[in-house]
Amino acid sequence: MGQTARTTKLLLDLSAREQGGANAGKRSHLEATAKILDVARQFYLDFFLAHPEKLMERVEVLSKTTGEVSERLISADKLLTWAEFHTVATTEHPDPLPQWNFSQAFPDFPNRYRRSVIKDVIGKARGYLTTLWKWQHSGKKQGKPGIPTASNHPTLYAGTYTLDLDEVDLRKSFVRLKVYTGSTWAWVQYPTRYNRYFEQRRAEAGWEQESPQLVLGKRSAAIHFVQSKTIKARKIVESKRDPDLVTVAVDLNVKQLAVITVRQHGTIIQTRFVSDRGLDQHRYRHLRRVAKKQWQSGKPVKGERSNRQLWAHVRRHNLDTAHKTARAIVEVCEQYPGCVLLFERLRTIKPKGGSKSRRLNRKQANQLKGKINQLAKEKAYVKGVVSVEVNPHGTSQYCSRCGAKGMRFSLVAGQRVTGRGGKLFCCPVCHYECHADFNASCNVHHSFFREFHWQPRKKPSG
Ligand SMILES: [Zn+2]
Repeated sequence: MGQTARTTKLLLDLSAREQGGANAGKRSHLEATAKILDVARQFYLDFFLAHPEKLMERVEVLSKTTGEVSERLISADKLLTWAEFHTVATTEHPDPLPQWNFSQAFPDFPNRYRRSVIKDVIGKARGYLTTLWKWQHSGKKQGKPGIPTASNHPTLYAGTYTLDLDEVDLRKSFVRLKVYTGSTWAWVQYPTRYNRYFEQRRAEAGWEQESPQLVLGKRSAAIHFVQSKTIKARKIVESKRDPDLVTVAVDLNVKQLAVITVRQHGTIIQTRFVSDRGLDQHRYRHLRRVAKKQWQSGKPVKGERSNRQLWAHVRRHNLDTAHKTARAIVEVCEQYPGCVLLFERLRTIKPKGGSKSRRLNRKQANQLKGKINQLAKEKAYVKGVVSVEVNPHGTSQYCSRCGAKGMRFSLVAGQRVTGRGGKLFCCPVCHYECHADFNASCNVHHSFFREFHWQPRKKPSG
């Protein structure tokens, strides 16, 4: 059992008014809202840090299942109630603490926003106190943890805040948000770049809706809809005991982005090659231009960016290919329910030698590999497929049939040329010849089951 989450972004349309976008006033409301929430967050951060003993209070909890009483850290919900009791004026309790009167400092502040701010701050303040306590007891002089700030917390980008789902009302291509106009709080409609793919993801069965977040960029604004799902999957040790287990192995490369082999009962039952469709060559041409421009303009100035559009293009292209390749891997996995996905542990090889553009291209290729690996794992897990990283030792050097050390070669104009960069593989012992990447992919299965002598075996214990 595990949890997985995903985000679907809904962009707010901030293009010019004539083109159907939100007007400038509405745009400034978003910034004003983000700002006032930051201030409110700061208020509660100060409040909680002024009451550390309450924040770390331990309370006795009665377990519903066993009936035992245990001591635990006070829950966030209880803290929320406690904080509201002391800071917010209500009819039953009209006088909050005079120096912490939130109702006075922030009149008409919406309750839901206040609660989301408090919850947010509880996590931050607790994290800070814990690290501070650890630091004080470690005896170190350096590395004193800094007080968290309301706006630059690492997991929350400036201007991020959460909304409760019922505060967002989807109507065709508009979204209604409660925003701060600078003086009051009001409901404002924002046009969105709504599309059917978005709705498809939102409505997909099995996913639970979490609170969405409003994320403001320099020129863009989007609502991130977070969904979570509980995944049921076997543990790897259990799977390994299953004699009918299907393993799907992936070998990631540069030209053949992924070579996917499926094995059951010791035989390969399916193979799929995913080519890069000329991406490597295409990217190389762009990077050659980048390298040339960098050479022409001399030493780069710190903080100055160059070739922005070109780099953005390369990045977009890479990410798109990574998604597509990961998708192809998961499509194969989906045919075999209960299978295990195998990857080689990625080696980090620093590209060296060759021209500058070649080095740049190698670097991009390495990043692409990492991205495919990451995305495929995530996409597979959503389908209940667990992935394993195996030891990459020797997968490309040894024969996948007999385990002997083999050679790489290429065919150039009908002639065999042996060399390290060869596309093909041949075994001098059993004379097996095949595509080198296919051989490596088959070896990933061997590596998972530790079948050959070149595999590091577990030492018998005891
Ligand atoms: Zn062999």
